[in-house]
Amino acid sequence: MNTSIKIGKLYGIPIKLHVTLMIVVALIAWSIGANMLLIANSLGIPDPGVSTGVMSYMIGLILAGLFVSVLIHELAHSTVSIKNDVKVTEISL
Ligand SMILES: [Zn+2]
Repeated sequence: MNTSIKIGKLYGIPIKLHVTLMIVVALIAWSIGANMLLIANSLGIPDPGVSTGVMSYMIGLILAGLFVSVLIHELAHSTVSIKNDVKVTEISL
């Protein structure tokens, strides 16, 4: 069963998104969104500032940062593997 989607190729290494990452990202987005007012209040951000659409941008920014950091982490593993003559066939996020 194919549970990954190929999203591109970097340095000759196919990059794939596994269905579990998509589920985890959705759960994190839901968790952040459900608690955004609580998070904003603890940071001293007034409620109206959060409820006027800023919330969705903040969630998107946080998730994009998470995705990019995981990708960079896995690319670092791949770089070390290639330098040690270990073949990298794909990165599955
Ligand atoms: Zn690692």
